[in-house]
Amino acid sequence: MHLFDKCAAFTTARDARAAGLYPYFQRITESRDTEVVIDGQRKVMIGSNNYMGLTHHPLVLDAARHALETYGSGNTGSRFLNGNLDIHDLLEEELADFTGKEAALVFSTGYQTNLGAIAATVGRGDTVFLDKYGHACLQDGARLSFGQTERFRHEDYAHLENLLQATDPDRGKLVVVDGVYSMEGDIANLPELVPLVKKYDAALLVDDAHSLGVLGPNGEGTAAHWGLTDEVDLITGTFSKSLASIGGFVAGDDIVIDYLRNHARTQIFSASMPPSAVATVRAALELIRTEPERRTRLWEVTHRMMAELKAMGYEIGPTGTPIIPLLIGPMDVTFQVWRHALDAGVFTNPVVPPAVPEGGCRLRTSYMATHTDEQLDFVLEVLEKAGKKYGVL
Ligand code: PMP
Repeated sequence: MHLFDKCAAFTTARDARAAGLYPYFQRITESRDTEVVIDGQRKVMIGSNNYMGLTHHPLVLDAARHALETYGSGNTGSRFLNGNLDIHDLLEEELADFTGKEAALVFSTGYQTNLGAIAATVGRGDTVFLDKYGHACLQDGARLSFGQTERFRHEDYAHLENLLQATDPDRGKLVVVDGVYSMEGDIANLPELVPLVKKYDAALLVDDAHSLGVLGPNGEGTAAHWGLTDEVDLITGTFSKSLASIGGFVAGDDIVIDYLRNHARTQIFSASMPPSAVATVRAALELIRTEPERRTRLWEVTHRMMAELKAMGYEIGPTGTPIIPLLIGPMDVTFQVWRHALDAGVFTNPVVPPAVPEGGCRLRTSYMATHTDEQLDFVLEVLEKAGKKYGVL
């Protein structure tokens, strides 16, 4: 058997393309925050993670331009050697301050952050405990580490306790959860989790990719939302969502962050965040801090969409955030509703296994502080028609 036989045997994508139902790699030719252009037609974007709507803010764009002029287009090397700028260091100080931690370390993507943080801290004699719905990069970080991995059912902390109990007390333990689950939108129940972590002398890592800017009194994330900042050992985050760019960070105690600075391979052996991206994140963070009305608006939009989609008859599951999945079930119906919505002018994300469990296909919709009421009226009209046409409503 040849190595590439599996590629020829993989027909799912080709079949879906032939049926006009392949939903991925949509080619966007223009992007204006809440609207994108595809095939020359404008679509209202309810499929991005741009929760704060800052990707087109004039101050953010100015900051990126200024950084381009000052430092050039890229750093052509890792921070460890030749690619460390003063603005990387400043951003780390600002993130530590924002999240309420002693120190922070910036990586080039959120994916690399989690990979690096988990693989560097979980050694041969250690065990990492993962929620089954945890993001792929958390699972991959565990795989890359030399430690053992245990998985517990989603948000089932009784199951986690069984696993902790059954683990040799001499092993170092890291419990890893998403602050907000990316395909469900539900918030990790840290008040229930933290006492358990303490009882078994484990460390806790919370991936705040979807919580930054969104949760907490000032958008600081999940730990602040629950008033438990000091109880979460490591907060990881990405800049590819509310922070309007690309990159990621881990925040925690100085001594742990310094260890990661010198051990996390995904940072040491990869080029640093480009200057324009660093400047973008700093400007976006400043806007999140100084314009709380954006978060207020985001929640107004979120509560309206939750209420109206539910009233229409959509199942939206346990979401508590601007991620509102429309739970449909079968894959073919999910793709049909997606196609109908896109053709009518609404961009959503169909999500199918392995990203979600078998039979759990859904349209992932997510909202922004900058969506207008008129755009939301239009979205609701389109989703109602699509749901009725294909028997979801
Ligand atoms: N964690 C979670 C929960 C995510 O949803 C994502 C991105 N979808 C990441 C981490 C990775 O972030 P990045 O896009 O910066 O690689």
